[in-house]
Amino acid sequence: MTTDKGRTVMRFGRWTLGQLAEWLNVILPTKWQAQADLAVAQMVTDSRAVMPGDVYIAIEGTRFDGHRFIAQAIEQGAVACIISNKNYAKQTVPCLLVSDTTRALGRLGQAHRQAAQLECLVAVTGSNGKTTVKELLAALFATKGPTLATQGNLNNQFGVPRTLLRLRDEHRYAVIEMGANHQGEIDCLTRLAEPDIAIITLAAPAHLEGFGSLDGIITAKGEIMHGLKPDGVGIINTDSPGFSHWFGKLTRSGRKAMSFGQAAQADIRIRNVSTTKQGIQFELYYQQAWRTVTSPLLGVHNAYNLAAGAAVAQVLNWDWDDIAPVFAKFTGTDGRLQIFQLGQLTLIDDSYNANPSSMAAGLDSLHALASPDNKPMLACLGSMAELGSTAAEAHYQIGRQAVKLGVRQLWAQGGNADDYVAGFKSLASGKTLAQAAEHAAMIEHLFTLYQTGEPWVVLIKGSRSAAMDQLRPGLTQRI
Ligand code: ATP
Ligand code: MG
Repeated sequence: MTTDKGRTVMRFGRWTLGQLAEWLNVILPTKWQAQADLAVAQMVTDSRAVMPGDVYIAIEGTRFDGHRFIAQAIEQGAVACIISNKNYAKQTVPCLLVSDTTRALGRLGQAHRQAAQLECLVAVTGSNGKTTVKELLAALFATKGPTLATQGNLNNQFGVPRTLLRLRDEHRYAVIEMGANHQGEIDCLTRLAEPDIAIITLAAPAHLEGFGSLDGIITAKGEIMHGLKPDGVGIINTDSPGFSHWFGKLTRSGRKAMSFGQAAQADIRIRNVSTTKQGIQFELYYQQAWRTVTSPLLGVHNAYNLAAGAAVAQVLNWDWDDIAPVFAKFTGTDGRLQIFQLGQLTLIDDSYNANPSSMAAGLDSLHALASPDNKPMLACLGSMAELGSTAAEAHYQIGRQAVKLGVRQLWAQGGNADDYVAGFKSLASGKTLAQAAEHAAMIEHLFTLYQTGEPWVVLIKGSRSAAMDQLRPGLTQRI
């Protein structure tokens, strides 16, 4: 381990330059062949993060061309570069010329994964719940041994290989989140990670623009099984569109399927989900017995996320006593249905992201929390992005659903605010309010409600681009 500028970095040093060239199927230029045994430290794509001994990979992005930062990387100590533009080949350090540096990054991540000695690598995809399930599994695995997990949301063609490249000899478990906007992306990612277990949380209309239809989404999520080890297990949701497609795909390829959900056929079954002031409680069928789960998470969908985690534990044959304490403590990740009490005001901060299904789930949680004591409900909703031609209708329907659940006020933000409002007004009657507003006005309104001392329950939710995560800090600052 070395420390650099306050950052602790594990030095790797397992690979040599010659091996890199071999993995990438390129020939080390004659001039540099004497350096074939040079040990390299880390593979780095951000020139600013390069440290002495690292290899710099020049990625050509849509906004930046990494080749332009080669000089900076070398100045910071890069001992070699991986490039795809031959005009940059003449440097003071060896440059490996490949046809596509993003693919090279993937290839190196794959090689690294193949060299790792893991007991289990789990890949997680799905329209919602990937990060939640990933964090839950990381917490479960951490009780058994050193675990590597995707940081934050680094789940694309850069994030997955970069995560795999963080694998170290001591790791026993790994959890890799995989996201996609287009067909074929998950196929590539899963082939890099070669999971022992692959989970599809569910298929729902998210990123519709890239996939075209729900069927497109189902097929794309099913691609995660392509990289699954031949003796691996696919974990799938009985209650999601696509279940039979994925089940068929697994069984045809000779892999095992393990299912979770509320359906009677589910291996890991959920029933009787109820909401308490502290979170949810439900029964889970695990290792041939009904167990009671108490979780600080909110929402039926989180019972599914916990069931997906339990499915992994069942595949690995862990005792219920091993996992129950983790379930009882797991509070989820920032901005995903977290409850905050500010005076009489209850905030459900679900601001991290949104699509129609998670928005519906968010409204259900609002209702579940408010209705036992008949508390007034406010929904502060940002627009949902990437819905293509279905956008106006999807927002309209959410507005209507809010009324059906008894929401008294809807404040809407962003490009589809008027659709939320129109949907709400189409059903609302009596003492209700629906209007478009920006963040600052919402914060002011929340502050006013806070001052009245009335027990409002507030859902804050929207797509990433709606930046609804500004509301809670904005309000706390105001208080
Ligand atoms: P992203 O695609 O942004 O990476 P993700 O799949 O990682 O999202 P999370 O970050 O776990 O998902 O949760 C995102 C949102 O989806 C949250 O608002 C959460 O409330 C909701 N959500 C989480 N799990 C589910 C589920 N199983 N079904 C429906 N909605 C869910
Ligand atoms: Mg995520």
